[in-house]
Amino acid sequence: ATARPEVRTTCAYCGVGCGVLARPDGRGGLAVSGDPAHPANLGRLCSKGSALGETVGLEDRLLHPMIGGARASWDEAIGLVADRFRATLAEHGPGSVGFYVSGQMLTEDYYVANKLIKGFMGSANIDTNSRLCMASTVAGHKRAFGTDTVPGTYEDLELADLVVLVGSNLAWCHPVLYQRLAAAKAARPEMRVVVIDPRRTATCDIADMHLALAPGSDVALFNGLLARLADLGAVAEGMDTRVEGFEEAIASARADDPAATGLSPQDLEAFWFLFAGTEKVVTVFSQGVNQSARGSDKVNAILNCHLATGRIGRPGMGPLSVTGQPNAMGGREVGGLANMLACHMDLENATHRAAVQEFWQSPGLPTKPGLKAVDLFRAVESGQIKALWIICTNPAVSMPDADRVRAAIAACDFTVVSDLTARTDTARLADVLLPATGWAEKDGTVTNSDRTISRQRAVLPPPGEARHDWDILARVGRRMGWSIAFDYQCPAEIFREHAALSGIAGRFGLDFDISGFADLSDAGYERLQPTRWPVAAARQGGRFFGDGAYFTPSGKARMLALTQQPPETRLEPRYPLRLNTGRVRDQWHTMTRTARAPRLNRHIAEPFLEIHPADAAARGLAPAELARVDSPHGSAVLRVLVTERVQPGTLFAPIHWTGETAPTGRIDAVVAPVVDPVSGQPDSKASAVAVAPF
Ligand code: SF4
Repeated sequence: ATARPEVRTTCAYCGVGCGVLARPDGRGGLAVSGDPAHPANLGRLCSKGSALGETVGLEDRLLHPMIGGARASWDEAIGLVADRFRATLAEHGPGSVGFYVSGQMLTEDYYVANKLIKGFMGSANIDTNSRLCMASTVAGHKRAFGTDTVPGTYEDLELADLVVLVGSNLAWCHPVLYQRLAAAKAARPEMRVVVIDPRRTATCDIADMHLALAPGSDVALFNGLLARLADLGAVAEGMDTRVEGFEEAIASARADDPAATGLSPQDLEAFWFLFAGTEKVVTVFSQGVNQSARGSDKVNAILNCHLATGRIGRPGMGPLSVTGQPNAMGGREVGGLANMLACHMDLENATHRAAVQEFWQSPGLPTKPGLKAVDLFRAVESGQIKALWIICTNPAVSMPDADRVRAAIAACDFTVVSDLTARTDTARLADVLLPATGWAEKDGTVTNSDRTISRQRAVLPPPGEARHDWDILARVGRRMGWSIAFDYQCPAEIFREHAALSGIAGRFGLDFDISGFADLSDAGYERLQPTRWPVAAARQGGRFFGDGAYFTPSGKARMLALTQQPPETRLEPRYPLRLNTGRVRDQWHTMTRTARAPRLNRHIAEPFLEIHPADAAARGLAPAELARVDSPHGSAVLRVLVTERVQPGTLFAPIHWTGETAPTGRIDAVVAPVVDPVSGQPDSKASAVAVAPF
């Protein structure tokens, strides 16, 4: 491939999925601007997106395969990976292999990874860092709607009269959506914005109301709202025809005690009245909801309120999950999680399995879900998983209980890592390191948080011997003997297959059907415009559920009876503070890309610990000193930031810094590996810790 003058592509970072115009700047970087024609951003970019051009240099890039720390040829590397996976499967069975992949992979990469391990290796042990991002939303959607369906669109944010942001620092984590919301509110000052977050974040700048609830008390808050909606007569008429479980959900809601939120009765009433009295309400939720031992219940508590009022799937109304990653949605669509099949089909449904097996012409599919992220690495630790392939992610930093995960990977019999660089904490542990292409070099598609599929297009040629993830996976598949199934020459071919498979899902009456694209020839794929799914003969783009039809067996949505539970991790005298973790505005994940951009590093130079003045004083901690944070799992040393943004008894630390960038700043070494029992998503917001001067 040769570099092209200007290319219409998509941002590498968050789930807003902004369109980007990029062209080589002649100095080794790219000139980047927002694509005015892309419906997600209409020309806007945030600080991270606009600095993308500074992140494409080849310093630290992995340019050729490595085996045992020594340079190797692709032929040797592919041969070794295929041989070791084949031998492990033969000796120990499908449960002995695992893939850990990423919401940063393109849909085509994800599709081939999922097909290889589920369809041909016969193992469902593929999970993804999206498990850490939005698995609770997937579980909540499926419980309520029967499928993992995002009902609304970004436009709903602008059409709403009330936007409720729950556990979402939209201003920093989804900045272009925040800009759209801020602009809509400026144009219509009567629009109301409520932020529900234990911490006062930058998003509160546009809030009419900030409810600093007790950490983890969202179910009590939304149960209280549901009970109040019933009291105030705000429940939709004719709901019986569209929703089941209403009476039970209301009874549970009435039995719950909103005092668990720690909010004053006046603040609670003010919010509940505002919600009850406003027809056009959008509730945006993100990691503060998902990353919780009760994340799925939190999601359903929110969905209950929209279902009860019928405020879903109509202009300016509905729940809206905003995903952290650029292609978390695409991963969900190909089924690239341990408990999914493909195209929203169900791994435990024999009819779905048979259809996918026939379509793939595969030797057999697993019949049970595989291991979700935390359990996957436990199985690596125990020796159950003996061959592990990690693609495009850095679990030695980003998983909870990260020291234990790092040790488990180091001790695994055979670990393959595909990445841009050898300089990540995880890549250093690999037996085989495979050089992958990066954002500016890849062709494929991503799906953003409002179901819009966009093309990512290569601007630069692959450096050195780097290859695309789909190509590496397909080569391993062919070397393992599955020549026809993995005979892919280009991403368009993979997308055509994915779209065709989705037509089967559509025939089963499922939501994800993109079989209706008019032209998916290589040329048509190259020209593909941003398109919101579904793309099918029966249905195109738009919203779901405004017609009252859901994907459950009864065709009705399900409201769930929920009860506020105490935090899974209890505070104790030795660990008396609650640690919340999250993002900062100008870094992304473990900084593999953003740390390359000098202007992004200027925003916040090092990892920090937000602590309330009372807690700092009680421990003799002064601003800008170093503090040591300890939990039963590990420790980190961080710069003290004394602030009333956090509540007394709580702390906040950013997730980004790694063993490479700040050796003592890996906060996930401290985070407890507690998961939501339904979704398997770790609780990254409520670890019990101690803090002391360093
Ligand atoms: Fe990229 Fe997200 Fe910023 Fe858009 S909002 S430019 S997708 S990081």
